[in-house]
Amino acid sequence: MPERIGRDRLAEAIRRGGVELLDVRHRVAYEVSHIPGAMHVSNGLPADWAPPQNAILVVYSYGPEDDRATKATTRLEATGFDRVFLYAEGFRDWVASRMPCEPPVKSYACTVCSFGYYPHMGFPKMQIPPGTLFEELPENWRCPWCGAPKSKFAAQQAESNRLR
Ligand SMILES: [Zn+2]
Repeated sequence: MPERIGRDRLAEAIRRGGVELLDVRHRVAYEVSHIPGAMHVSNGLPADWAPPQNAILVVYSYGPEDDRATKATTRLEATGFDRVFLYAEGFRDWVASRMPCEPPVKSYACTVCSFGYYPHMGFPKMQIPPGTLFEELPENWRCPWCGAPKSKFAAQQAESNRLR
């Protein structure tokens, strides 16, 4: 089992420097937002890539139910990287804790009834876990208050939490 790193320790390590973050979610999700400085990795690492000297590698995906990060971590260890850590709680945990993201995550408001969707809260009543980005909601998702489709939502000003 890969060694784990929790959110607080990860945030601290990012502040200090010397962390190479590898995001193994889908590219679209990565482009919407990711942990600051993270590199997107899909089918293995670029052949000529090497982590900076003395850096620890931290791999994350959506959340603990997604074994892609565990697999990537195990693969990196097998390739000979030591100091590989798994942030098993993943990006949703990061967003749910309102940690800084790049670009910053946006909340959305329904233009019909003004219901607000806040990614850090999700919408547990509709099985949308905290930390789910608006962009990740199913296309047939509808406003819980008035039933308006996703297309009736407008992005609100992003928050700009800072980490470093
Ligand atoms: Zn609405």
